[in-house]
Amino acid sequence: MLTDCIFCKIIAKDVPNYTIYEDDHVLAFLDIHPHAKGHTVVIPKRHAETVFDMTDEEMKQISIGMKRTMERLKKVLNPDGFNTGWNDGQAAGQVVPHVHIHVFPRYSTDGGGSMHSIVKNPGDMPVGDVAKLFAN
Ligand code: 5GP
Ligand code: ZN
Repeated sequence: MLTDCIFCKIIAKDVPNYTIYEDDHVLAFLDIHPHAKGHTVVIPKRHAETVFDMTDEEMKQISIGMKRTMERLKKVLNPDGFNTGWNDGQAAGQVVPHVHIHVFPRYSTDGGGSMHSIVKNPGDMPVGDVAKLFAN
């Protein structure tokens, strides 16, 4: 636990939240500034800043927690679909430095886009040249 981390404070119950799913490893609660009806963040109970600070076991646990959260949202709100993902690192838009998976319930009339609307800047290398960087 980090004493100055808002999500650690939520886990410690020092800051209130609207929990929609919880198990031994994961807490899922409604985002305070929702981008969709039922927008939820799923967090590991152990503080980790990014995915690179998490063990493989913790990755399994948060994946299962994400699925349970989606099942709960599906049952209660019955959305038409979901987007899930996380902002990993400041360049990707991460503000709270405690890993969290965003779960956006999606509705056929909500006017939103897909993952492809996050960024559209393919860089200055053809795909084939990028592939060569992975050759060894
Ligand atoms: P990030 O940009 O780091 O991926 O998103 C952090 C998310 O956490 C934001 O969507 C923000 O609204 C949410 N958030 C920040 N502080 C709180 C809080 O105290 N309570 C809740 N429920 N959500 C929070
Ligand atoms: Zn934390």
